[in-house]
Amino acid sequence: MIRRDFKGVIDVITGPMFSGKTEELIKRVRILEYADIKMLIVKPKVDNRFNENKIISRSGVEKQTISAKDGEEIMSFWNNSYDAIIIDEVQFFGWDIIPMIEKLASEGKRVIVAGLDTDYKMQPFGIMPHLLAIADNITKLIAVCLICKNVASKSFRKTKSVAITEVGDKDEYEARCRRCHIKGTKK
Ligand code: ADP
Ligand code: MG
Repeated sequence: MIRRDFKGVIDVITGPMFSGKTEELIKRVRILEYADIKMLIVKPKVDNRFNENKIISRSGVEKQTISAKDGEEIMSFWNNSYDAIIIDEVQFFGWDIIPMIEKLASEGKRVIVAGLDTDYKMQPFGIMPHLLAIADNITKLIAVCLICKNVASKSFRKTKSVAITEVGDKDEYEARCRRCHIKGTKK
């Protein structure tokens, strides 16, 4: 018998690109699956890098998802038999998902989200500062700087594009430490 009366929690997994956020998210999903926790797994419509209806970590592990453009569309897939909601690339969603997340958590649902803390300019990314502030648990991951091999907590954009939301992978971005990020930006 699954307990449905546990207190809701908001878990946020964050860090730069290539730090294993999706991998960590999928690991949490697997643990919940063992316990028969029913989950809705969501990703934003804008992120079609790998597959429309899957989240796939760079190590190749994948999970079936629904893709939605906003909180309203997420809720159109939701029903109360779910015990948890899992959202990848949460930084791409707008402010409307904040009250949605707070409501689900207050109803005892488990909320686990993963997203970039900062954009390619090292500035806080959209709703992430707010999510980090209301989180019960935060996991901040790190990558390896491709220039100096130090600890990397920044996502460096290799292209000339200036749009904040520019979905991409290894051709467009690389993980860098603060020093190498600043050096590269000045060039
Ligand atoms: P995220 O969701 O944070 O972008 P993923 O879970 O999709 O991360 O992928 C993380 C994987 O990316 C690592 O297991 C590693 O194999 C790979 N990777 C590529 N570049 C780097 C890097 N510079 N530092 C660390 N991991 C990297
Ligand atoms: Mg990811």
